Amino acid sequence: MKVGVLALQGTFIEHIGMLRQLGVEASPIRLPHELDTLDGLIIPGGESTTMLRLMKSFGLIQPIREMARDGLPIWGTCAGMVLLAKSISNYEMETLGLMDMKIRRNAFGSQIDSFEVDLEIPLVGEELFHAIFIRAPIVKEAKPGVKILSRLPDGNIVAARQNLLLACAFHPEFTDDLRFHSYFLNMVSQELSNNPEDGILQGSQLGS
Ligand code: GLN
Repeated sequence: MKVGVLALQGTFIEHIGMLRQLGVEASPIRLPHELDTLDGLIIPGGESTTMLRLMKSFGLIQPIREMARDGLPIWGTCAGMVLLAKSISNYEMETLGLMDMKIRRNAFGSQIDSFEVDLEIPLVGEELFHAIFIRAPIVKEAKPGVKILSRLPDGNIVAARQNLLLACAFHPEFTDDLRFHSYFLNMVSQELSNNPEDGILQGSQLGS
């Protein structure tokens, strides 16, 4: 299994470190051709507008959109969640437009724009997940088809999944809790076992 982490800006080093701890081949992605052999992609935290600008310069927007539509599992954390969403309620900006949800960027204002909280995320396990929020977004509206994975105690949605797209408003890559990464890797490996012909095709291309 090979998972790429978009490495234009933001928390890509931390994500790569966690994937490697889980024994997965993880590579930084900067150029479109590096997407070709991936089984999964992580879009890290950072600054979504800067990341978007760099994605445009590097010619990554269309290839990522197409690969997502062809069934590549993608996980966006924080700025990555902003980029996955179809719409942003409080900023005029382009996104990848992949998940049917409306996001509010920098949702916690400037006074308390960073905080930590222990969250219930039943799908990653019973034990609470220590979540770090840094100038974080929230999901204002999740359309049908988007499954809500976690909410803050005030009800705001902070983790969601739509088929093979996963998003969270916080930074699991800044903790030593590997459970969210494991959850994403399970999505990737399930998708691989649903499409064994992809592996056979690659094998025959390699002449094995
Ligand atoms: N505020 C940033 C944005 O909207 C996200 C911050 C983060 O990724 N920690 O792009």
